[in-house]
Amino acid sequence: TAQGPDSHTAGRPPVSFELFPPRSDAAALALGRTIDRLAEARPAFISVTFGAGGSTRDRSLTVLRYLLEHTDVEPMAHLTCVGSTHEEANRLVREFLDAGITSFLALRGDPPVGVDPHDPDAGLGELRTAAELVQLIHRVQQEREPFGTATMSGVPGASRIADRPRPERVAVAAFPTGHPRSRNLSQDIDALLAKEVAGANLAITQLFWHAEHYLDFVERARAAGVTIPILPGIMPVTSPARLARLTELTGVVPPSELEIGLEVEPDLEAQTELGVAFAARLVSDVLAGSPPGVHLYTFNRHEAVLDVLERVGITDERTASER
Ligand code: FAD
Repeated sequence: TAQGPDSHTAGRPPVSFELFPPRSDAAALALGRTIDRLAEARPAFISVTFGAGGSTRDRSLTVLRYLLEHTDVEPMAHLTCVGSTHEEANRLVREFLDAGITSFLALRGDPPVGVDPHDPDAGLGELRTAAELVQLIHRVQQEREPFGTATMSGVPGASRIADRPRPERVAVAAFPTGHPRSRNLSQDIDALLAKEVAGANLAITQLFWHAEHYLDFVERARAAGVTIPILPGIMPVTSPARLARLTELTGVVPPSELEIGLEVEPDLEAQTELGVAFAARLVSDVLAGSPPGVHLYTFNRHEAVLDVLERVGITDERTASER
C-alpha cells in the first residue's frame, strides 16, 4: 500500500529533510548541532545522500547512525546502484540493514565522469535502473525478515531504538521538469510508474522553481496510474554561487527573478532573505495542492529551512518558541 510520511504533529503537513555527509571534522561537529535543531521540528524522516559509486558510504552511515542513536527521527539512506554488480549492491543493502536502517531512497546514480557520453549504457553496471535497486532492497529485506519481525540485536544504540516502529520505506526520485537524460516527460512518468511497480512506496521530487511544475507532474502521474505519495522537494537557495552549481548539477533552470535577485542583493543577509522568502512562497503555493508533505533540502544548515517552515506556519509551535 502507498505509505506517506506519517504526521508527527497533528494539524500540519509532515516535513522531512535531506542532509549530505560532512567532508571534515569541523563540518561533522556543525552537522551534529544542525541535526539536533532539525530533529526539534519533528520531521517524518531525515534522508542522507550517498555518493554514486559508494564514495561516501562510511560517512553516510555515520550520519545515519547518529540519527538512530541521538534522535527520534527516522533515518533514510540514499543508495545508488550505478556501476555495481548484483553481489555488491546486495552487500551494500545488507550493510545498511545491519546498521539498523530500514528506510531507503533507491537511486540509480550518475555514471562516473569520463565514461562514453554517446553510449547511454556505459558505466551503468549490472543494475541499470533505480527500479531494479528497489526490487533488490525488498528482496534483501524479505530474506532477512521473512515475517517482518525486525529485531535490533547487535545494532549500536539498540536499547534506545528498540521500541520504535520501524517503517520500511523504499522511496525513489521523481523529476517534475524531466530528468536531463530523458526524452520527454512521459518517459519520466513511465520511469516513476516502473519504480512503483517494482515496490517503491514514496517518491521525492528533484527541486523545481514553480509550484505548477510539481502540481502538473502529480496530475500527469496520477493519470498514468502512479498512486504512491509524491513529496515535493524544495530548497531555499541563499547564494548566487550555490544556485549556479545547482543549475549545473540538476539542469533545472531557475527563474530570473531568483537568479538575478540573488546577484544584485548587496550582502549575505539580503540574499538569505530573498532565498528564504522565495522558498516559503513556493512551499505555500504547493501546499494549496495538498501534497503528502514537504521535503526540504537543507545544505546541512538548519536556519533557512526552519525559517521557511515558520513563515508558512508549519513549524511545531514548541520549536518556534524555543528559537
Ligand atoms: P532512474 O529512475 O533509473 O532514471 C531516471 C530518469 O532518467 C528516468 O526518468 C529515465 O527516463 C531517465 N533515464 C535513465 N536512463 C536513461 C537513459 N539511458 N537514456 C535516457 N533516459 C534515461 N544521486 C546520487 O548520486 N546520490 C544521491 O544521494 C542522490 N540523491 C538524490 C535525491 C533526489 C530526491 C533526486 C531527485 C536525485 C538524487 N540523485 C542522487 C541524483 C540521481 O542519482 C540522478 O538523477 C541519476 O541520474 C538518476 O537516478 P534515478 O534514480 O533517478 O534513475
